[in-house]
Amino acid sequence: MNTKDGKIACQWCGLVDDWHREVGNETHKGGKAVCNGCNKTIQWLPDLNKQPLKDTDLMPWGKYKGWMLGKVPADYFIWLNDQQKVQRDIKEYITSNIEVFKQEIHNGR
Ligand SMILES: [Zn+2]
Repeated sequence: MNTKDGKIACQWCGLVDDWHREVGNETHKGGKAVCNGCNKTIQWLPDLNKQPLKDTDLMPWGKYKGWMLGKVPADYFIWLNDQQKVQRDIKEYITSNIEVFKQEIHNGR
């Protein structure tokens, strides 16, 4: 079940955008969204066999929502990297750029 703004809501307990992904199978390669509240399956997810995020992609949520990733301050990404519930593609973007961010902070960006 998707709400209007694209968040996933649990149809069992009503939690919105509070879920984690569990691995899928041959039919559902994207895995499934499982509610963090009641631990029930909310829905199958689309296969995220897509390209990694680039500097020109937009931040999908949070304090810097709508900013190009390349413009978001490095220390914000460093902070996000320590948070638990960070969307997987953002996490991968941070992981692949972490040395760049550290260097930017070092250089006083
Ligand atoms: Zn639930």
